[in-house]
Amino acid sequence: MSNKLEIGTQEDGEDCDYVVCIRATSPLAFPDNLVSTCSKCGCTIQYRPHAPKTPAKMCVECAIPEMRESFDENNLQVMITPKTVAEVAAYLHKKREN
Ligand SMILES: [Zn+2]
Repeated sequence: MSNKLEIGTQEDGEDCDYVVCIRATSPLAFPDNLVSTCSKCGCTIQYRPHAPKTPAKMCVECAIPEMRESFDENNLQVMITPKTVAEVAAYLHKKREN
């Protein structure tokens, strides 16, 4: 096992242990974001409508200690989907124009 970041398909995402979500903001980071609660601390989180449905959703604050533990075990696997990459790129592009 080794730490890695990979781009996976939407189906791959369903096999992940958990989905890292940011805390809900007002307004939401994307207008069509969905709102849920963190499976660990119960805070309100937001996520993209196409986020994998199977894994537990967790806020960033709860996910970081988990990720650090996996990283120390050399077993951190982070996956993002091409759709997320495209959206983040578009978001950053738009931000730079402002
Ligand atoms: Zn949390």
